[in-house]
Amino acid sequence: MLPKKKKEKCRYCKNEGYYFRPYEGYWLCKSCFIKSVEKRVYKNIRVNNLLGQKENVCVALSGGKDSTTTLYLLHRIIEKRGDSNIFAISIDEGLGKYRKDSISLAKKHCKKLGIEHYIYSFKKEFGKDLKQIVKENKHIAPCTICGVLRRYLLNKKARELGATKIALGLNLDDEAESIFLNFVFGNLDRFVRLGPKIENPALKGFVPRIKPLRELPNKEVEAYLKARGIEFHPKGICPVGKDSFRKTIRKSLQEWEEKYPGTTFQIVRFFDRIVGPVRKDYFGNISGKYKTCKICGEPSSRKICKVCEILKRY
Ligand code: SF4
Ligand code: ZN
Ligand code: ZN
Repeated sequence: MLPKKKKEKCRYCKNEGYYFRPYEGYWLCKSCFIKSVEKRVYKNIRVNNLLGQKENVCVALSGGKDSTTTLYLLHRIIEKRGDSNIFAISIDEGLGKYRKDSISLAKKHCKKLGIEHYIYSFKKEFGKDLKQIVKENKHIAPCTICGVLRRYLLNKKARELGATKIALGLNLDDEAESIFLNFVFGNLDRFVRLGPKIENPALKGFVPRIKPLRELPNKEVEAYLKARGIEFHPKGICPVGKDSFRKTIRKSLQEWEEKYPGTTFQIVRFFDRIVGPVRKDYFGNISGKYKTCKICGEPSSRKICKVCEILKRY
């Protein structure tokens, strides 16, 4: 543990410090912190070309801090540009109060910003909620089931609503966790699909994903919303996916970051340096894979997609 930092003046304007960045070693006042966070997000969008012209952006909105920040920042950019549209989709997996509360907050934000908001539930779309599906698939980790079904539904609905991009509220820590997770499990298929933008032109019907918050550490997202006075749903404990392997990795990464500030950035930077050639080699060797599921017709690199397998549609 690093010793707790005594509050100092803002490095730029000498006003009272609001946030200390251990990996840069200085304090920022509220106003300089807000500016710096927004600048970083806009730079990520510009440098990685996350938005083109005339976009119809769908924000995957849970009501938690990351998706709420994504909604607010993209709304601001899109409003300024004037040639694009933004809407939001929330998925109700059937997690009881945990999800009900976050969706009702998501609804409130969309109403305030005048953004169209669509809500879809596992129960209505798949005939059963997550708890039931997990019970029927004891051999698969609950978070894997949840993630597969959520991504499937999000892609399908966003495409039907004419989305050109799906914006995910994934921050720097999330990206570093995914890099590690796929590395540990040797999941090259998912490893090569990480990055600020996920495109897959070979998969018909796949809506490209973007991650505007990829350069923002987890703690800064929360500090940003607090500085701006925007309400968000606290993380809480999901009643289904309590002990995922991702959580173990998250804990380790947080400890490393505390001891050696900047570690999370370095993991992501290293990934960015090596992924190009790995991706090229990987995609050069997977020709002949399936492009849509034989049963549901949704994009899939397998003959029968994972969702149809989980729901035992065959
Ligand atoms: Fe789904 Fe796991 Fe997240 Fe719960 S913790 S919402 S089960 S991915
Ligand atoms: Zn300042
Ligand atoms: Zn399918």
